Amino acid sequence: MTTHPLFDIAGRTALVTGSSRGIGHALARGLVEAGCTVVLNGRDPRALEKAAAELGGVGADRADRAAGAAGARVYTAAFDVTDGPAVAAGIADVEERVGPIDILVNNAGMQNRAPLLEFTDDAWRQILDTNLTSAFLVGREAARRMTARGHGKIVNICSLQSEVVRPGIAPYAATKGALKMLTKGMCADWGRYGIQVNGLGPGYIETELTRPLVEDAEFSAWVRGRTPAGRWGRTEDLIGALLYLASPAADFVSGQVLYVDGGMTSVL
Ligand code: NDP
Repeated sequence: MTTHPLFDIAGRTALVTGSSRGIGHALARGLVEAGCTVVLNGRDPRALEKAAAELGGVGADRADRAAGAAGARVYTAAFDVTDGPAVAAGIADVEERVGPIDILVNNAGMQNRAPLLEFTDDAWRQILDTNLTSAFLVGREAARRMTARGHGKIVNICSLQSEVVRPGIAPYAATKGALKMLTKGMCADWGRYGIQVNGLGPGYIETELTRPLVEDAEFSAWVRGRTPAGRWGRTEDLIGALLYLASPAADFVSGQVLYVDGGMTSVL
């Protein structure tokens, strides 16, 4: 089998935030399969070890590799993406232990479905921190190094709710809409340093986050009916789009959001 060289990302190092499960884990798997060295992130070190084992086990660190030790190309870095000092320390540790980050995927996120009138101040701050501030903190820290090196790819995991909203999910949509504009802003600021920043916007994808919706027969049927593809998305559906945005094939693509939603954002 031959792969066009424009899609070759073998040997690059990628950090995927929120990759202990769900979409992040599937994207990490795709990057490993494409030949990348991948760093998994989340807050729970034990969940990360388990997730790494599923991808072939944790690799040898830089010193071990220099000494000739072989190992899988999967690493773990447990830190909270909403905590500025933890992010700074986490990124420094990854670069020290694994090597320069070529590809950053800002995927960590949460959902909180509640009517806006009942949404508390704390809940608002938590969803803003988790879905938006995290991308600023991790993106800034990674980009400080990428700008110095003159290249880098950043992919922010947006949502179809970066474009449209339904009752009961306004705060989530607000964070994802803002993440789309942060993507464009990062593109504007960092393009001159050889960094491309894009968004990937999943539609309704079956994961732990959406389990209550999948299990709600009425809602689940609504998703299938509203989606031109006629089904829920699977985490694997997102891998091809990520590999494209992370590859040299997308070197002149920046500030865009690529929606992978079975067509849902295009229909009324
Ligand atoms: P999951 O809840 O299944 O996974 C979320 C991941 O993020 C976990 O690995 C979790 O690990 C990690 N995480 C959460 N908070 C933090 C934090 N503060 N610091 C570090 N890691 C954190 O969600 P999905 O896989 O479904 O969603 C992933 C992304 O995709 C999110 O940004 C979501 O908004 C987006 N998305 C999802 C859609 C869907 O239909 N599923 C649709 C559109 C967008 P831990 O809890 O151990 O820290």
